[in-house]
Amino acid sequence: MESVLDRINFLKDEINKSNYKYYVEENPYLSDFEYDKLFAELKELEDKYPLLKTPDSPTQRVGSVSEKFFPHTHKYRLYSLDNTYNEEELTKWYERVTKECGDNIDLVCELKIDGLAIALTYENGIFVRGVTRGDGVTGEDITPNLKTIKAIPLKLFEPVNVEVRGEIYMPKTSFEKLNEENLEKGEKVFANPRNAASGSIRQLDSTITAKRDLSIFVYSSVFENVPNPPKTHYEGMMYLKKLGFKVNPNIRLCKNMEEAIDYCKEWDTLRSGLNYATDGVVIKVNSLACQQDLGFTSRAPKWATAFKFPPEEVTTKLLDIELNIGKSGAVTPVAILEPVLLAGSTVARASLHNFDEIKRLDVRIGDTVLIKKAAEIIPKVIKVMDTPEHNSLPEYIPPERCPACDSLLVTRENEVNLYCESKNCSQQITAKIEFWVSKDAMDIDYIGPSVIQQLYENRFISTPVDLYRLTMQDFMQLEGIKEKSAYNMYTSIQSSKTRPLNRFLTALTIRHIGKETAELLAERFATIDDIKNADIETISDINGVGIKMAESVYEFFHDEHNIHMLEELKKLGLNPVSKALPQSDKLSGQIFVLTGTLQNMTRDEASELIKKLGGKTSSSVSKKTTYVLAGENAGTKLDKAKDLGVIILTENEFLEMIKEDV
Ligand code: NAD
Repeated sequence: MESVLDRINFLKDEINKSNYKYYVEENPYLSDFEYDKLFAELKELEDKYPLLKTPDSPTQRVGSVSEKFFPHTHKYRLYSLDNTYNEEELTKWYERVTKECGDNIDLVCELKIDGLAIALTYENGIFVRGVTRGDGVTGEDITPNLKTIKAIPLKLFEPVNVEVRGEIYMPKTSFEKLNEENLEKGEKVFANPRNAASGSIRQLDSTITAKRDLSIFVYSSVFENVPNPPKTHYEGMMYLKKLGFKVNPNIRLCKNMEEAIDYCKEWDTLRSGLNYATDGVVIKVNSLACQQDLGFTSRAPKWATAFKFPPEEVTTKLLDIELNIGKSGAVTPVAILEPVLLAGSTVARASLHNFDEIKRLDVRIGDTVLIKKAAEIIPKVIKVMDTPEHNSLPEYIPPERCPACDSLLVTRENEVNLYCESKNCSQQITAKIEFWVSKDAMDIDYIGPSVIQQLYENRFISTPVDLYRLTMQDFMQLEGIKEKSAYNMYTSIQSSKTRPLNRFLTALTIRHIGKETAELLAERFATIDDIKNADIETISDINGVGIKMAESVYEFFHDEHNIHMLEELKKLGLNPVSKALPQSDKLSGQIFVLTGTLQNMTRDEASELIKKLGGKTSSSVSKKTTYVLAGENAGTKLDKAKDLGVIILTENEFLEMIKEDV
């Protein structure tokens, strides 16, 4: 059985190894969340068995220092922060603090910027040195690199002696751009903005750093020759701002822990809208005198703590790579994962994009991978962790044949995907039908993937056309389908026959034609026959429809197989017409801009009415605007309309104007 000492030694080893990979090699093999879990376990064991706590334990130290740059001993020690992922621990920290300093203490909440910690020294207001935090005692002197960052003032507005601490970061958009450029050049792609910032600032050649978009938020200082030094942290931060430093604008003074917890909750939601990465909130005691009373542990201040947001990145094992054949025949690899909790839900599958991406990341089945949930709903694999097992695993070889129908896969010009071009591929057929019934296309309720699969396997359907030939009896032959469900499925297919042209065009899955382009086509053409009769030039004349799209539309409607399919659909009662074409010219030549909340209809419904009556809508107010239709809480568009003298209509005036035509 593992003894406590064994476990402590294991944890120390694991954390020390991770520290080296993270701080020195900048290539971690654990996610931050896993690292924090190991760290918290070690701390708990050491607190429970104090005799087993040794001075060389990672819980007693800060970070790590590499030998890449000249070392510099800090004049004032730099610390890390204790952290927690739960509110209960925050409350415990607050109890400890109030016990020492009394109940009436103010707290300051700041976003915890996920970047690289540095200390900047100013003498008589002039920037003289910038050093990384390193192990808190010694850091790396990276002054020339820091001088390339425009947000770091070289001269302050007052000639003070001050040491300022801050976090160097790379804006998310610049990080994405850098990765795109590096990918094109075949250079290193960074796993996250923190790594990108750290890798960019720790370049031996400062001209490379100068080319990277880096910035800083400062978060504390030590003043040496200020006549009236600030008495609180908040005052200090405002003074830093006055001196010319970049202070994060989301800093907030809180009266108690409740307010601080509210701040944490607020920013857990709001953080996704920021252009910089933040992994939590730092809560600090505001009074500097109280801070002094509370002091430090060997690693972190007792007067501050970090609340970490639930992780958006975790590691897990890649169990397999599944191949999905989409509606267009594109074969996409999907990562099958050992289930893991990520941002509140259990994740067992993640996107791997395409086979180029697998090659770039060198993903191998059996690897430990880092997955991330960002703006997208489907998590994606962003990195292979640098584990000892990786090299012993076989490299992944992309398939040559379709896993569903065994036909040879092909590549298409200028596209990274592999395609199955067989018209008889079962997965492609069911994917096409699934798309046909989906919300964006024909919007047919009650028919989900499993029903489609059963219908296909029982040979009731092999194209979307077959859906319209199904009878209620057909449905009732499927497993578990009773009369009521069969009726619902049957009627919802029947009622989809009257869907407008734009939905029908989307459902056809014409190459290069998505929902938006289908809408543009349906604004220009009234029926399928109109499109069929149009030449490429006429189609490409539509604003927003390029030549490639026009050619694809033309080819689709002149392909024999498709012509036959469209005729079949017509015979079955599908004769879609455009809903966007004007039904009257009442508003012809008039341009509307909609703003605010309408009471009797949504803005989309109002736009549709305007278009039906021959009018146009625009998203911005200009001299060309005829009317601004203003609902409640109208914003800046209303102000602009007033400035330009554009006629402003209330909702009632608008309804009055069109009442005879709707
Ligand atoms: P930390 O990053 O969790 O917190 C301390 C740091 O927060 C400070 O040094 C400071 O630079 C920064 N910070 C940002 N905004 C701040 C603000 N407003 N006020 C004060 N400080 C602010 O701690 P750390 O010691 O830098 O690193 C430890 C963390 O690094 C771990 O919790 C883990 O997340 C990560 N780590 C991961 C691995 C791994 O293998 N994945 C290894 C080592 C460390």
